[in-house]
Amino acid sequence: MSRTAGVVIVGGGVTGTSLAFHLVSRGVRDVLLLERTALAAGGTGRSVGIIRQLYPTRETSQMVKRSLAVFQRFADAVGGDAGFVACGALIGVAPAMRSKLLATVAAQRAVGIRAEVLDPADAARIEPRLDASALGAVLWEPESGYGDPAAVATRYADAARRLGARIEQGVEVSAVLTAGERVVGVATARGERIEAPVVVNATGLWARGLARTAGVELPIVVGRHPVFVVERDAAFGRPHVVYLDLAGGAYVRPETGNLTLTGSLTDDETRHPMDPERLGAAVSLDEAAPVLARTSRALPALAQARYRGGWAGAFDITPDWMPILDEAPVRGLWIAAGMSGHGFKLAPAVGEHLAALLTGAAPPVDPAPFRLGRFATPAAAGTFVASYLR
Ligand SMILES: Cc1cc2nc3c(=O)[nH]c(=O)nc-3n(C[C@H](O)[C@H](O)[C@H](O)COP(=O)(O)OP(=O)(O)OC[C@H]3O[C@@H](n4cnc5c(N)ncnc54)[C@H](O)[C@@H]3O)c2cc1C
Repeated sequence: MSRTAGVVIVGGGVTGTSLAFHLVSRGVRDVLLLERTALAAGGTGRSVGIIRQLYPTRETSQMVKRSLAVFQRFADAVGGDAGFVACGALIGVAPAMRSKLLATVAAQRAVGIRAEVLDPADAARIEPRLDASALGAVLWEPESGYGDPAAVATRYADAARRLGARIEQGVEVSAVLTAGERVVGVATARGERIEAPVVVNATGLWARGLARTAGVELPIVVGRHPVFVVERDAAFGRPHVVYLDLAGGAYVRPETGNLTLTGSLTDDETRHPMDPERLGAAVSLDEAAPVLARTSRALPALAQARYRGGWAGAFDITPDWMPILDEAPVRGLWIAAGMSGHGFKLAPAVGEHLAALLTGAAPPVDPAPFRLGRFATPAAAGTFVASYLR
């Protein structure tokens, strides 16, 4: 059995669906997205969905700003509800990081990001329940917040379909097919061959394995990042803002039903490799306890919250914790992976960026920092927190 497509996108998370939407929006015809299980079944469906803007590089700052603008008017730009809640985000840093924060935020203002560095005592103005006594500064991003990653992927897919893209779920790509140094299509696990001059690998945690079928080696490790859920007690009052405590090493973001999602910002996920098939596996209270202790130090009123469970998430991590958005050495094979824990908030800009590159247009953001070739010279090993401040 054989059929054809102009572009095959492999993977139906926020990356693949955003790209499908942006390609058809640019008039590209014959776009086919293949998802092996269901839309948002991968990292997207396990994401915490925080949209914060603090990034250490100009290009990623530009991307997150472009993405935020889409989340703010998602119904008009894409259609439907992204679940975006602009509750604002606070980011606390240790005294030693204060000057770095000031310099980074000054550079970010140049690209139009709205953020204010507060003295720790002034953070109470935003979130009176915060214990900022050990901090050196607190960043306030009034426009940040969180969204619903599965809804965003679904809405992008709906919009792409309306504009003519074909989206097929339950179709696993078993190999990228090549002839010489060119891509010629994909083979599926059900024995089908789909001829296509352009294939995009947007398979997130599975991207390294799929790239290997075309002889392409991606510097991506899959690192475990568990998420824990607690229920705030009635005395807690109104929901807290998104808070990322870079000094204490934990984050919290509110969820409906008086729930709070929380996780660690101190563990180096690259040291906890995980089989992607374990995504969503159960976690234990023992594992949660040290993280909950840190969130309770940051927001003491959370000490009364009840543990409700959690899940094993994972990030597709590159050596510098920034995405790969580039054509592989095999012509026609594009990589949209290695999102390194940023893929939700960047998804609108990532889709826009890749659609420009694939159609030979100038991308809105300098593509150099996202090229695969940047790893030809070994990068100094980064950390997740270094993707906020360097
Ligand atoms: C616990 C956790 C918390 C996070 N928190 C945040 C956050 O707060 N803010 C933020 O911006 N980002 C966050 N992220 C990161 C972000 O959610 C991800 O980077 C993003 O969702 C990845 O989307 P994706 O489309 O690239 O990959 P995925 O969502 O993993 O999609 C890849 C898809 O490819 C499919 N697939 C795989 N192999 C094949 C194949 N051979 N054939 C067909 N289909 C295939 C999979 O089934 C999957 O649906 C978090 C991630 C996790 C796991």
